[in-house]
Amino acid sequence: MKIRAQIGMVLNLDKCIGCHTCSVTCKNVWTSRDGVEYAWFNNVETKPGIGYPKEWENQDKWNGGWKRTASGKIEPRQGSRLKILANIFANPNMPALDEYYEPFTYDYERLQNAPLSETPPTARPISVITGKKMDKIEWGPNWEDDLGGEFAKRSKDKLFDNMQKEMYGTFENTFMMYLPRLCEHCLNPTCVASCPSGSVYKREEDGIVLIDQDKCRGWRMCISGCPYKKIYYNWSSGKAEKCTFCYPRIEAGQPTVCSETCVGRIRYLGVLLYDADKIEAAASVPDEQDLYEAQLGVFLNPHDPAIIEEARRQGIPDSWLESAAKSPVYKMAMEWKVAFPLHPEYRTLPMVWYIPPLSPIQAAAESGKMGLNGIIPDTRSLRIPVKYLANLLTAGKEAPVVHALDRMLAMRAYMRSKTVDKEVNLTVL
Ligand code: SF4
Ligand code: SF4
Repeated sequence: MKIRAQIGMVLNLDKCIGCHTCSVTCKNVWTSRDGVEYAWFNNVETKPGIGYPKEWENQDKWNGGWKRTASGKIEPRQGSRLKILANIFANPNMPALDEYYEPFTYDYERLQNAPLSETPPTARPISVITGKKMDKIEWGPNWEDDLGGEFAKRSKDKLFDNMQKEMYGTFENTFMMYLPRLCEHCLNPTCVASCPSGSVYKREEDGIVLIDQDKCRGWRMCISGCPYKKIYYNWSSGKAEKCTFCYPRIEAGQPTVCSETCVGRIRYLGVLLYDADKIEAAASVPDEQDLYEAQLGVFLNPHDPAIIEEARRQGIPDSWLESAAKSPVYKMAMEWKVAFPLHPEYRTLPMVWYIPPLSPIQAAAESGKMGLNGIIPDTRSLRIPVKYLANLLTAGKEAPVVHALDRMLAMRAYMRSKTVDKEVNLTVL
């Protein structure tokens, strides 16, 4: 058993209000520089939608993540190491700037100094790249939020299209949710496996994935390899860059900037212990729908004295073992099973976990369409269909998502009876 510690994050989507404070504070700290104007290490997407960059979830287009080969092993979808090396001069699977957006600014001079008139002054956007006025803005890191249903309708997300037809069809019944995204600091990162220069690495002590700027040669195979499209090319320095999980802050005992500034308080940070010897087997289980449970199988119980003793023997510091014992990530992912990895089918074993949004389900519960007994008779009664959430979080397996929603609903009922009714109503539990 090879014990390692990993810092991870849980985001409670039930509480995200889509305010983008996390994205803006992250940008101010990490990417307000030349060459990465278009890059958002943290962005908040409106789902269902095409996302940022456009269609990042379409691995047939980008070839990101891992695939299981006929021999039962996994290799990057881009192909063997030899194939990756052969492609470095003409990488065919990389989003162009248009797929992110052309960064723009405004003519603030005109906005502020225009003479008094009957109508307010307008200023056309100016491209940061060319310095010229732009006719229109085609896309942005959260364009669907601005243009709502129109872009969602044009989405290539087939599941959404089909569900719209089969289950909804009417405007009142459409649904949306927010999905904040950052690098997943995966246990099995394809970005590391795809880098021809060996510049992308996973830190031994806390699992944070970083890019050694001195070693990076700008081949950009990591951008293709990452299925979450969370590596960005800095066109000014010619190097790849990514979310650092705010490692200087973590080393000083501080939370990441996005966690500290989150208005909804939706982000929880915590340490998990895992067995590195189990990673390959977990990432290569034959059925995609088993990947979520396979990932749970690599984590170790931080309360087990034998595990603690062995971890200490293998050099994990006591401070990390104490953090692991108190970890909210362990509690929510492993003990309560209310948090899930994003798109486990990419086989990277991601370490940013999500609690599915519950809020619209309260109405379904109150109308008797779903209960607290783990059975949802008809997902049509839910504003956000379980099928959609399962497609995001458990490679399509619905039972774990239903279980999590039930637990969240029970917790809400319990808290309401405690704080609103002032007495605990045990019949709802
Ligand atoms: Fe690498 Fe992060 Fe992408 Fe995972 S999400 S493959 S760690 S860049
Ligand atoms: Fe959601 Fe928090 Fe980001 Fe606001 S700051 S969009 S609540 S994750």
